[in-house]
Amino acid sequence: MAIIITDECINCGACEPECPNTAIYEGGVEWRWSDGTSLTAVELEDGSVVEGDALQAPISDEFYYIVSGKCTECMGFHEEPQCAAVCPVDCCVDDPDYRETEEELLAKKDWMHDAA
Ligand code: SF4
Ligand code: SF4
Repeated sequence: MAIIITDECINCGACEPECPNTAIYEGGVEWRWSDGTSLTAVELEDGSVVEGDALQAPISDEFYYIVSGKCTECMGFHEEPQCAAVCPVDCCVDDPDYRETEEELLAKKDWMHDAA
């Protein structure tokens, strides 16, 4: 599963630079599939395609947030989720809405970083 940041976040910013997939953004900041990845275009579940460089609306305006579609639980890079490891208030927790197997997470990592 992906990791989610709860509303206990104190906006310290410690997690953001630790993410190997650039899946963490400051509240209110727009995100992109291409940040920290080699993604040039992404097909969404509804079949539509977005440019990797297109700016996406912030998922939270108040707290740091994680883009679930870019989070691999650090699989393929680290032994444990780095955001959770550095967070001083332990507010990076498993997201029950995004459950993925290890295989799926590793495939996601390859998809993000090996795309032509
Ligand atoms: Fe990024 Fe890893 Fe945290 Fe997911 S678990 S948001 S990949 S640092
Ligand atoms: Fe929020 Fe924790 Fe990230 Fe700090 S490390 S910004 S408290 S989620």
